Amino acid sequence: MTNFSSPVPKGARYTSAFGRRWGTLHAGDDYAPIKPGDHDPIYAAADGTVKNTGTGILAGHTGNIVIIDHGLLTGNGSSDYTLTNYGHMSKILVEPGQHVHAGQLIGYMGATGNVTGVHAHCGVRFKKKGTKSYKWASFHKWMKSKGITPGKTAPRKASETYRNLSLKNKSKGDDVLAVARALRSEGYTRQGDTRVFTAQLDVNVRDFQRRTGLVVDGVAAEITQKRLGI
Ligand SMILES: [Zn+2]
Repeated sequence: MTNFSSPVPKGARYTSAFGRRWGTLHAGDDYAPIKPGDHDPIYAAADGTVKNTGTGILAGHTGNIVIIDHGLLTGNGSSDYTLTNYGHMSKILVEPGQHVHAGQLIGYMGATGNVTGVHAHCGVRFKKKGTKSYKWASFHKWMKSKGITPGKTAPRKASETYRNLSLKNKSKGDDVLAVARALRSEGYTRQGDTRVFTAQLDVNVRDFQRRTGLVVDGVAAEITQKRLGI
């Protein structure tokens, strides 16, 4: 079951709609921060996997952008392959390949690309099963079809379901403790309980990955954690 979330905080202002604008397609909806100029947070609009991040990866001068692949969404009457994107970010907090949950913080609003002020440009594309290309649609209307009005509906609290899925050297938190304990019970480490991903754990994770046929990168991400039974 896929969850959905507003990508912007409650109080953000809906400033520009999807549609034809000055002869070109404005392929998204714009949301300005609660207070003009602030770098308000941007959240994933649905569960998915980060497909791409960076600057200049989409036409239309959208600056620093995150693209999330939600796969085939079958909820609420739709059954389309779905991609969302979030542009003009000042800071990007996720990496390609990373799994994200609806409502998870993915970056902050900014004014990168072709803009007149700080805002989030949010877009959605759908591809019907059996067709070849994605087609742009109104992000705002798509959200409303899920019962969410960005700017009016509070974002989903992702912390309830979110587990940090890419733990690596110097990562912190209870998830690190779970990795340390799992490695210890599998006989891969003598590391005691810790909530900081130590250099020792980095060596042990690589050892575990090597012996279990995984990509050896020292990052305890989704597959490594699953193999560890976490
Ligand atoms: Zn825009």
